[in-house]
Amino acid sequence: MNNKLYGNLIFELSKPGRKGYSLPKTDYQHTTCELPQQLRRTEDATLPECDELTVVRHYTNLSHNNFGVNDGFYPLGSCTMKYNPIINEELAAATNANKLHPAQSVHTTQGALSLYNQLAKMLANLTGLAEFTLNPCAGAHGELTGLMVIRAYHQSRGDNQRVKVLIPDSAHGTNPASAAVCGLEVIEVKSLADGTVDVEDLKTKLGDDIAAMMMTNPNTLGIFEKRIPEIAQLVHNCGGLMYYDGANLNPMLGVCRPGDMGFDVMHINLHKTFSTPHGGGGPGAGPVGVRKGLEQFLPTPRIVETKDGCGECFERHEGNYEQSLGSIGNYLGNFNVLVKAYAYILSLGNEHIKEVGPLSTLNANYIKDQLKDVYELPIDGHCMHEFVFDGLKDKSTGVTTMDVAKRLLDYGYHAPTIYFPLLFHESLMIEPTENESKDTLDQFIGVMRKIAEEAKNNPELVKTAPHSTPIGRVDDVEAAKHPITTYQQLINSNI
Ligand SMILES: *Cc1c(COP(=O)(O)O)cnc(C)c1O
Repeated sequence: MNNKLYGNLIFELSKPGRKGYSLPKTDYQHTTCELPQQLRRTEDATLPECDELTVVRHYTNLSHNNFGVNDGFYPLGSCTMKYNPIINEELAAATNANKLHPAQSVHTTQGALSLYNQLAKMLANLTGLAEFTLNPCAGAHGELTGLMVIRAYHQSRGDNQRVKVLIPDSAHGTNPASAAVCGLEVIEVKSLADGTVDVEDLKTKLGDDIAAMMMTNPNTLGIFEKRIPEIAQLVHNCGGLMYYDGANLNPMLGVCRPGDMGFDVMHINLHKTFSTPHGGGGPGAGPVGVRKGLEQFLPTPRIVETKDGCGECFERHEGNYEQSLGSIGNYLGNFNVLVKAYAYILSLGNEHIKEVGPLSTLNANYIKDQLKDVYELPIDGHCMHEFVFDGLKDKSTGVTTMDVAKRLLDYGYHAPTIYFPLLFHESLMIEPTENESKDTLDQFIGVMRKIAEEAKNNPELVKTAPHSTPIGRVDDVEAAKHPITTYQQLINSNI
C-alpha cells in the first residue's frame, strides 16, 4: 500500500491558516520599517501554508524519488558512478577540514596546505606528469585551464598563429566547448570503424597553426587508443602539444600513465575516479597536470614548500609568477573534494590502487560478452572500463534504446548513457565500475536479457515503459525548451 502523495506539489497540500511554526509574542514595540511605496507588494505572496509534519513528509517522500549509487546499480557510461566510501565523506566533513577559510593565514593552515601539496604529488606520480594545480573545480574547468596553459606556452614563444585544436569525433562534448571558450578553433578528426582515431585523417590536418590535440584514452567508446605514441610524435613534430582528457582515468589507475605516453597536459576528474559523489551538480575538482617545462604557466595561487621551515613548511603564493595564467577561480579550488581524493588514494595504497583499472575492465568485458548475442555490439573485441551497444540486435521489434533505458527503471536500475557517443544511432553505453559484485552484474545481465525477450514477445510493454515510476515519459524537448518552474505559471497554463 503506497499512500505517498507523489504528485502533489507543496502548494497543493496547502490549507489556509496552517502553520509549521509560531513565534512568541513580543513585549517590545516595533516601528515598522517603511519600504518605499514602489517596492511594496500590492497583494500577499501565495506561499504554501502547511503544518510541519506535512512539510517533513513531503520533502522526505520527494527525496525517495532520487536515485544514487547508494540506491542501486548505476551503469551510466562515461560517468564512473562508483562507490564513494562514507569514511571519506566523514573526513571531509570534519571541522578541521570544512571550517577553514581559504584566505586564512598560512600559519593556521599548514595541515591543509600539506594535504594539497601531497595530493598534487600523488597525482603527478599516478599520471607521470611533473606538476599539478588542484585549483580547477570541474572537468570542463580543467580542460579550459589546460588549454590556457597550452596557449600561454605558444604565446611565450611568439608562436601566435597556433589557434586550432584537433579533437576526435568521438570526444566528450566538453572538449570542443572548452576549446571554443578558450578562443581556439576546433578541427574534428575522424574515427576508424574500430572506434580509434583515424591517423591518416589526422595527418591531413596537421600544420603550424595547430595548438594541440585533445585525446581521451580509453576513448568514449571504451577503446584503448593504441597508436598514441605515433600520434604524439606527429603532433609534436608539427609543434603542437598533446592534451589528455583524464576524466575517465579509472581504468588506467596504476596501470599506465599519460605522461609516459607522450602527453604534455591533462586534467583529472576527482569527482569521477577519486571518491566524490557527482551528478547532482557539484562540488567537483578538475586538477590539471603538466610535463616538465610547462609549470610556469599554471595558475595561481600556488602552494610552495619551503625547505628552511622549522615546523612551518608551506607558503601560499598569489602573484610573482610572470608567465602564470593568474587565478582561474576560487582560491585553491574545492578543498573538501581534495580531502576525499587524498583519503581515497591513501586508503588504497600503491598496491591496491593498481587493482581498480583491471577490475573495472573485467566487469565491463563480462557484461559485454554476456549480452552481445542479444544487443548489437558494433565494435567487438576487448574493451576497457566501458563499452557501447547499438541498440537491440533484433531491429524488427521497433524497440529503441530509449525504450530499453526506460524499461530498466521498472526493474530498479539507473539507465546507462544513451544516444552518446554520436557515432551510432542507438548508442547504449555501459560502465559498471570495479565496485560491483558478480551477483549484481549477473542480475543486471538477467534483466537486460529479459527486456530483450519482452521486446520480442510484448514490444508494447517496453515501448510504454516505465510503468512503476511516479511519472512516465516526459517530453524531453518540451521540458528543455519550455520549462515551467513556478506554480503560478502552472495554474495559468492549465496543465
Ligand atoms: C565527465 C567528462 C568530462 C567533463 O567533466 P565535468 O566535471 O562534467 O565538467 C570531460 N570529458 C570526459 C571524457 C568526461 O567523461
